Amino acid sequence: MSEEKSLNFLEEIIENDIAAGNNNGRVHTRFPPEPNGYLHIGHATSICLNFGLAKKYNGKCNLRFDDTNPVTEETEYVESIKNDIRWLGFEWNGEYYASDYFDKLYDFAVTLIKKGLAYVDDSTAEEIAATKGSFEKPGQESPYRNRSVEENLQLFAEMKAGKYKDGEKTLRAKIDMAHPNLLLRDPLMYRIKHEHHHRTGDKWCIYPMYDYAHGQSDSIEEITHSICTLEFIHHRPLYNWFIEQLGIFPSHQYEFARRNLTYTVMSKRKLLQLVNDKHVSGWDDPRMPTISGMRRRGYPAAALRQFSDTVGIAKRENIVDVGLLEFCVREHLNKTSNRVMAVLDPVKLVITNYPAGQEDIFEAENNPEDPNGGTRPVPFSGELWIEREDFMENPPKKFFRLAVGNMVRLKSAYIVKCEGFRKDDAGNITEVHCSYLPESKSGSDTSGLIVKGTIHWVSAAHAKTAEVRLYDRLFRVEDPSNEDGDFKDYINPDSLCVLPSVYIEPELAKAKPGDQVQFMRKGYFAVDTDSTENKLIFNRTVTLKDAWAKEAKKG
Ligand code: ATP
Ligand code: MG
Repeated sequence: MSEEKSLNFLEEIIENDIAAGNNNGRVHTRFPPEPNGYLHIGHATSICLNFGLAKKYNGKCNLRFDDTNPVTEETEYVESIKNDIRWLGFEWNGEYYASDYFDKLYDFAVTLIKKGLAYVDDSTAEEIAATKGSFEKPGQESPYRNRSVEENLQLFAEMKAGKYKDGEKTLRAKIDMAHPNLLLRDPLMYRIKHEHHHRTGDKWCIYPMYDYAHGQSDSIEEITHSICTLEFIHHRPLYNWFIEQLGIFPSHQYEFARRNLTYTVMSKRKLLQLVNDKHVSGWDDPRMPTISGMRRRGYPAAALRQFSDTVGIAKRENIVDVGLLEFCVREHLNKTSNRVMAVLDPVKLVITNYPAGQEDIFEAENNPEDPNGGTRPVPFSGELWIEREDFMENPPKKFFRLAVGNMVRLKSAYIVKCEGFRKDDAGNITEVHCSYLPESKSGSDTSGLIVKGTIHWVSAAHAKTAEVRLYDRLFRVEDPSNEDGDFKDYINPDSLCVLPSVYIEPELAKAKPGDQVQFMRKGYFAVDTDSTENKLIFNRTVTLKDAWAKEAKKG
């Protein structure tokens, strides 16, 4: 049965445009990050949307760095952004920088001055704010508003030449100080900033404001559909005003709701605070909602794309359950990850009747979901590590794992029967004793026994060790930005749990950073980039089931 997905509102707009022959049927979008931080899962949505629409309609999508603010921008961010987009599976049509348009934007400003539509204002930032007016009250015109074109041209040239100090003058559009939309009350176009820019160096000391630069940059690139988030909806009339007055290519702006996710924050400013205050190890800490953090944690790019596609886009703000993202991650990893055995909280299991000197090597299936997944050798011996929780001295009814008298299957190996255990003086179990049934070998079992429990294990003589990092939500509350006080007050103090030395199958010692596996019964894990030749580190990407949802139900 084929399922036709209904069009989202942007697809509807685009199909109507194509049908009407607008832009000669051309679709050209752009993704315009400001290089002032690493990309997060919200950006991933915007990337999937912009590149996805271009692909669907045989169009193009530009990557444009919106680098008009010299103070916060760095080349490190530019590189990370390119890396993240490629990793997500997209390639841009052209790589552009708003700063490449500084000359053109300057010329456009001169055009507006000549048309009597822009003026140099000597008012301070405070004076400009104080004369803005409000929803109820019109603003007041600046005393510098009616300067002659010649004077404005000269002052603007002097601003550019570096004659004035930061904040001494601005260039403002001359629109209407009583306009019902406050953004059109003579908005700023340029401010003076004697700052070094990551690309233009010290060439400029005046920098264009977002509202002036963005639409003109779209127009220069002949972008047909300029998609941004909802908070810019009131900026749209200004976007259109500049384009109309300049008579340049008519790009159009469309807005959709930002992607928000539960148990995290999603603004670069806040993420930067988490990094600077060392609440996380960096932008790519596996607990971060950044693309680089998710990649390091082991989230597949395909899962992020699927998540973006599944949630779709909305015209109203909403917050999406992070459980849905984890569901997409599990779905992909289930298909691609080899199943291996690792014991995180070990206790020794001794097989009392296993002949000294005997050594079985089992061929274990790598991935039951993948017929071509192959097998790997797993050595077995008379002393194994098992999970402490798989044995109970006083088990409740229906405990199908090890307790004196119980039988379980050791995964891919034999059935064993528990016969006793040892404790230390403090009452901790130190050894579990079992006998094994030689005829119950996996694959050639003639025991006729049916056991209810299967547990994983690692041969003690063959085991290697590794560090494991278990992650929980970074915040204790669903929407930390919406709580009283500082969002950082809601950080989960237990979001990282390090197990310095767990036991893993010997085959796993070959794993390399980025490799992904399922530790049977324990979750999906990815080899961390901190790993060295002598020390493997595994990040838990996600648990096998949604433990959180179960907890929530229990209350
Ligand atoms: P932040 O508030 O996180 O710093 P931003 O909007 O300032 O985000 P930009 O680098 O300017 O970040 O964003 C690049 C593009 O990504 C913009 O088109 C923006 O609308 C989009 N974008 C940013 N955050 C989200 C989000 N949470 N959901 C969807 N799109 C987003
Ligand atoms: Mg921004």
